[in-house]
Amino acid sequence: MRRPVIAGNWKMFKTQGETLAFFEAFKPLVAGTTSCDIIVAPPYTSLSVAVEATRGTHISIAAQDAYWEPEGAFTGEISMRMVADTGSRFVIIGHSERRQYFAESDTSVNRRVKAALVANLTPIVCVGESLAEREANHTQSILKRQFEGGLHALTNEDFSRILLAYEPVWAIGTGKTATPEIAAEVHEYLRSLAAARFSSEQASAIRILYGGSVKPDNIKGLMAQAEIDGALVGGASLDAKSFAAIVNF
Ligand code: PEP
Repeated sequence: MRRPVIAGNWKMFKTQGETLAFFEAFKPLVAGTTSCDIIVAPPYTSLSVAVEATRGTHISIAAQDAYWEPEGAFTGEISMRMVADTGSRFVIIGHSERRQYFAESDTSVNRRVKAALVANLTPIVCVGESLAEREANHTQSILKRQFEGGLHALTNEDFSRILLAYEPVWAIGTGKTATPEIAAEVHEYLRSLAAARFSSEQASAIRILYGGSVKPDNIKGLMAQAEIDGALVGGASLDAKSFAAIVNF
């Protein structure tokens, strides 16, 4: 039985003060929720504040990205080690916005995944096809390339320490959710890739989150699919009430 996980990706939203206000409102709304893991990914500047605000709760904090080198002359970058040092436990890697606007590639995703594992962070590795790729019937080949490239040279043990997120680019921030059936079919395909590359135990244990316009009114249908183990939520995670409603699906 895979434990559900609901993760919120705040993207480039919220100051430290806004982060504190969010958790003040959010914590009581999810205090009784023990049936799923809750993760929030604020911007770097709010990581420490978020870790402090959630100490003693069952909410974990994630970074939205980090660089693979542990330190060095890389102006503007933040290392996995620095993220771990804030008390954060997770890091999102390969989000489509990183791929689209910041030239993230399967090779750089792979470097980041390995560095995250060395720093004892749990990577949330994102994959997903664009609308043009889906319409051209390339969904599976794109996902295969992202899966194999991003997870290249990982051991079975490494693989057991990651989370996967299927985020069709056409559903992110567009209000167009993949139907639960479309998402489940892709999750099943990702699990078959995992079985081919890692062990069958690992393939059935890996938790695969769906992301793309998840809202309080569609989470139940998505989570009713056995193949969907959780959600990566963008816009709807910014508001304490709507994110709590998703967590409490
Ligand atoms: C995301 O940023 O990962 C995401 C899925 O965004 P949204 O929920 O806003 O579509």
